Amino acid sequence: MLSDVAGHAKAKEKLTRAFRSERLAHAYIFYGPAGCGKRVLAKEFIKYINCSGGGQDSCGVCSTCRGLEGRNHPDLALIEPVKAVIKIEQIRAAKELVGLKAAQCEYRAVLINDADKMNAQASDALLKLLEEPVAGTLIILIASNIHAISDTIRSRCQRIDFKGLSREDTLAILKRKGLEGPQLEFLARSSEGCPGKAVNFAEDDLFGLREEAFRFVADIARNGVFFVTKDLGKKYGKFKEEEVEETDEQADGGEGPATEEKTTNGQKTLYVRNHLTDMFVSIFRDVLIFNSGMTGSIINIDKNALIKELSGIYSAEAAAGILSGFNRLKGLLKNSINYDLSAGNLIFRGGK
Ligand SMILES: [Zn+2]
Repeated sequence: MLSDVAGHAKAKEKLTRAFRSERLAHAYIFYGPAGCGKRVLAKEFIKYINCSGGGQDSCGVCSTCRGLEGRNHPDLALIEPVKAVIKIEQIRAAKELVGLKAAQCEYRAVLINDADKMNAQASDALLKLLEEPVAGTLIILIASNIHAISDTIRSRCQRIDFKGLSREDTLAILKRKGLEGPQLEFLARSSEGCPGKAVNFAEDDLFGLREEAFRFVADIARNGVFFVTKDLGKKYGKFKEEEVEETDEQADGGEGPATEEKTTNGQKTLYVRNHLTDMFVSIFRDVLIFNSGMTGSIINIDKNALIKELSGIYSAEAAAGILSGFNRLKGLLKNSINYDLSAGNLIFRGGK
């Protein structure tokens, strides 16, 4: 039900008011941070405007509600990026659906998740769809990067802005997802009001990688040593190939299976390095915060003792220096640098 969706009161109010006064726009862009619940709200709103239950909210049990809950309802086109790109074929399929005569639902819906991942051809095709509105059709674009969506598309959609959820809402959602224990508080804090991020962290099984990141930092801080294996974090994380952007090598055309294998390894390395960098950044941000006296704002709250210990070794200035070092390193992750060595040196040189 729409009323069950946590937070986002303004967005809900705007949409339901437009619907009740029969002034629903033809197309919307839901814009806001990734994982804050835009897609969940969009899906519930599509149910809300189509429910045959006759109540104030969607009922969740009528055949329309149940049908729309799945992915294969004949009046719902749910588009998601494939290998981090939305292609023209996907938009064309949605266009065909919109063009069909008989509909079961009052409103056919096209829901484009991560619409900022459309390539140029897909964008052009979508623009045509937006330029010829079909009555009884609702198009919702979900985006966390508004600048990746062309001005012409933006001008044809009504924009609804989303913010991260409150701590209470985030915690409630994560608990509902079955997350618990000392890691729950860490996830609630690190997700910054975007529970989707925390759910991904748990689903990707990144806790092992996080332990390794902490061990790496502790070894350097306590003993001034680190081991370069070139494989930091290789064992950890569920690598989801389909979610990784195509690399330049792929775009240039492959050289058979050997290249494909190499590329997959390259993608996995990049995936691990990205997450490790985020983890190192969050550790030293905590050290900086701890040294500034704002101990209540620490993200890695389940590692409080170690953060405290590190704060005795790294001054606020030193932590800030390491942070800017990692920000520089972020831009180099794709290149074949020795990540362990670069990260280790940054942390080592930053110490007392
Ligand atoms: Zn219903």
